[in-house]
Amino acid sequence: MSSRARVLVLNSALGPLDYRVPHGMTVEPGSVVVAPLGPRQLLGVAWEAERMPSDAEVGDNRLRNLLAVADVPPLRAPLRRLIEWTADYYLAPPAAVVRMALSSTAALEGGRSVVEYRATGTVPDRLTAQREQALERIGDRQGLIRELAQIADVSDAVIRGLVKVGAIEGVAVDIDSPYPVPDPDHAPPTLSDDQRAAAATLVADVDAAAFRPTLLDGVTGSGKTEVYFEAVAAAIRAGKQVLVLLPEIALTEPFLKRFHDRFGCEPVAWHSGLRATQRRRAWRAIAGGEARVTVGARSALFLPYANLGLIVVDEAHETSFKQEDGVHYHARDVAVMRGLFEGCPVILASATPAIETRHQVALGKYAEVKLPGRFGVAQMPTIEAIDLIAEPPEHGRWISPRLVKAMEEALARREQSLLFLNRRGYAPLTLCRTCGHRFQCPNCTAWMVEHRLTRRLACHHCGHIEPVPRLCPECQNEDTLVACGPGVERIADEVAALFPEARTAVVTSDTIWSPAKAAEFVARMEAGDIDIVVGTQLVTKGYHFPNLTLVGVIDADLGLDGGDLRAAERTFQQIRQVSGRAGRGAKPGHVFIQTHSPKAQVMQALVTGDADAFYAAETEAREEAGAPPFGRYAAIIVSSEEQGAAHDTARAIGRAAPRVDGMEVYGPAPAPLAMLRGRHRFRLLVHARRALDVQDVIRDWLGTVEWPAKVRVAVDVDPYSFL
Ligand code: ADP
Ligand code: ZN
Repeated sequence: MSSRARVLVLNSALGPLDYRVPHGMTVEPGSVVVAPLGPRQLLGVAWEAERMPSDAEVGDNRLRNLLAVADVPPLRAPLRRLIEWTADYYLAPPAAVVRMALSSTAALEGGRSVVEYRATGTVPDRLTAQREQALERIGDRQGLIRELAQIADVSDAVIRGLVKVGAIEGVAVDIDSPYPVPDPDHAPPTLSDDQRAAAATLVADVDAAAFRPTLLDGVTGSGKTEVYFEAVAAAIRAGKQVLVLLPEIALTEPFLKRFHDRFGCEPVAWHSGLRATQRRRAWRAIAGGEARVTVGARSALFLPYANLGLIVVDEAHETSFKQEDGVHYHARDVAVMRGLFEGCPVILASATPAIETRHQVALGKYAEVKLPGRFGVAQMPTIEAIDLIAEPPEHGRWISPRLVKAMEEALARREQSLLFLNRRGYAPLTLCRTCGHRFQCPNCTAWMVEHRLTRRLACHHCGHIEPVPRLCPECQNEDTLVACGPGVERIADEVAALFPEARTAVVTSDTIWSPAKAAEFVARMEAGDIDIVVGTQLVTKGYHFPNLTLVGVIDADLGLDGGDLRAAERTFQQIRQVSGRAGRGAKPGHVFIQTHSPKAQVMQALVTGDADAFYAAETEAREEAGAPPFGRYAAIIVSSEEQGAAHDTARAIGRAAPRVDGMEVYGPAPAPLAMLRGRHRFRLLVHARRALDVQDVIRDWLGTVEWPAKVRVAVDVDPYSFL
């Protein structure tokens, strides 16, 4: 009988450690344990010793005792294999990946109960506007006072007042109280023939209960959600759990509502905005198997599902699935691996699939299910390019006359318009008219962006803000600052000047920063309280507004510069997604794309709607360049607050680069964002053949170099950001 346990403790600097399992304690692989380390106690997970070799084997007599085992199910083998794979593939310490699985420390404590509140249905005698708003927004939801106040966008005092008059009551709940089980037969839609065929394939995959990745490729508005909901229903019927990954938490709220309409209750939501008690309850219910459907951001991928029967990645092309700090993983790719280890199907839903995903389909590794047309009477919108050289906007303006006219007509028809510009704030650059001084972030190689709503200059990389000064800090002249170029706030100003009677909303991460704010925006759009939306990429996806018929892209060329290998693809996806917001109901949609290069291949593809030709050309170009998915990249980013230290380490790593057939190393060079959050950054770029195990090479290579503690070396495998 073995009384030793190998444990991955939650400390990324340490490898696996061995402990003694004291008499009477049961520890198996996956058990969550409390282990002593020096004078401290650390959480950890027991692991199969043979899968996690230790460099420092300690004799039995020198082992320390484990202190406790948490009262949660052991992490199952499929999750342990996923953790190993993620650590290996993304060159991350296993402990850093384990930490993502143990994402609620409160969950590891014992049971507790709290008082939550809900509406009683009694209408108070004194019904103020605030109270009315609160009761309406709360509906049948239940939560802590503060949570209800947040949902309703009123103060805690308003909710307390409602409790006092009996309109809201407290109920003691065990915080681990079960979640409602979604009803697969609550309100199934009547599917079109195309939809029914697609759904049947996906349902059969769920019933087969085997690994199978499928691209669900359907134009915007084709009913992809309705179709994959059928697969979700099948998994619920089979008693399995489902995970739906969404790229942004702003999309969670509309999703919850839609899910509720279809299945009669909300799924379990998992995102960074959860309170500790909510995280704890969700984590435990997921581990116990009672949470049947979880919808979440990418971090939901590492939760300890008890019996996963289906994974859906919605808007699977979204680059926000790539995590850019900590463990640099891509949630879409990790989702497929989780499906492999769990033995369940994975649906990647998108109207604009990534070239990487299409390539897997071409290779026959992923299946493909298509939805070729929009659902019902809705037609795809007409798309025209506006040549900004031939038809320029008036001086100092950004909306060209043809688009202005279309907006006028939409307003006259009482239809909604959306102007898209992927730039927050008022202007991307502010300078002094007299001396030319430009405002730069003190921590980053980036210009400060003017935000007029808050009267601040802000850095979009590190969050540094400062007030807009009256005097130029360089030449001391007064009121000489000028804004260069447009951001959404400036476009909103222009709209207000053009259409003073129109009701306008600006939608960016500055205005929609919580699921509640997103819900409020959706409600105002649906009620027809907004005529013109001006928004960033936040409005390009997910939303369904039947009365929105006009979309104008202010600057289609914006994403094309910057030398990013995916620039054309991303521009195509983004503009096609935003175009997809137009004409989703009975009324036809129109899209105008303002560009300086209407002849460019990507603009032509958008106008003609010939996605296949565009993808074919892009794919060919990638193949010629040996770029993903035909070759691979990895970035080694060396950073330090001391420029010299970072530079020395980067050069040492460069000198130690091994000569390997099929691999090239570029750099070190200053990273395009040479300074970020006060750290100087150098970058080496590794370009390799697809077949090369580049992780192994990099692991060995970095293992030969030493660097001082003040220098950080991060490896980004399959990088998406080339900053
Ligand atoms: P996509 O995700 O492909 O853009 P959605 O699933 O959002 O498309 O569907 C677009 C709209 O059409 C939604 O309002 C949806 O409820 C509606 N819809 C799609 N299919 C059906 C159907 N079979 N019955 C009723 N409504 C449907
Ligand atoms: Zn900054």
